[in-house]
Amino acid sequence: MDVNRREYEKRWYKALSPEQMEARRANARSWYEGLSPQKKKEMNSAKTESKRNKRPPKRKKMSVEELRISHKENEQKRRDKMTDEQKKSNAKIVAARQTPEKKYSKKTYMKEWRQSLSSEKKKERYAEERKRISRMSPEKRESIINSYHRKWKKLHPETGRRGCNVRRVRQLNCEGSHTAKEWIDLKEKYEYRCVSCGRGEPEIKITLDHIVPLSKSGTNWIRNIQPLCKSCNSRKKDKTIDYIGALKDAGK
Ligand SMILES: [Zn+2]
Repeated sequence: MDVNRREYEKRWYKALSPEQMEARRANARSWYEGLSPQKKKEMNSAKTESKRNKRPPKRKKMSVEELRISHKENEQKRRDKMTDEQKKSNAKIVAARQTPEKKYSKKTYMKEWRQSLSSEKKKERYAEERKRISRMSPEKRESIINSYHRKWKKLHPETGRRGCNVRRVRQLNCEGSHTAKEWIDLKEKYEYRCVSCGRGEPEIKITLDHIVPLSKSGTNWIRNIQPLCKSCNSRKKDKTIDYIGALKDAGK
């Protein structure tokens, strides 16, 4: 086994029995008692010094007025740090927001600007953002990723339920894929009804069913998918029944 010294010592300590630990502690105590007073003092001061260094510096409490001033100072510092190019682009943004036809808030202006970007530029910005997040502390990173996830879920309400399906498809290593929009379109085509029993939402809940089951090497293409209610889906189990084909035949 290849472990470094520190890891090895850690494991060695863990493997000790309680009696052995107590014996080691007693040994250390007696060694400390035998030291000269001068040496004891030195050791204690070294200990407190290392503790003090580990503690983060205390933050001064500020009044509202002081906070306002420090905020202004920080803002000034930020402005001083800006390059000429950044200043120019900032001025451009401010000017563009105040067009005679429309007065934008900063938020809406930036939203429209982001939408107007080319796909390469978007990818670039996305990579930069990923880098920025990766440098953060784990707790902060998690909270930011969660907030992004929440936003994304709000924008794509259909994909949440599809998530489990995608995971299952990946696990089974199946062929083919379909988008969330294709699935919505399929449901719309059959008026949000179960293609087997004909009951519709909201009486039942439409679930996604593979005509040829994934366990029998069915694909995940949209042509292998039919909307079924929960009870019809569980009745079908892993049989291959094409309800959509049957509907078409009946239509003829
Ligand atoms: Zn049904």
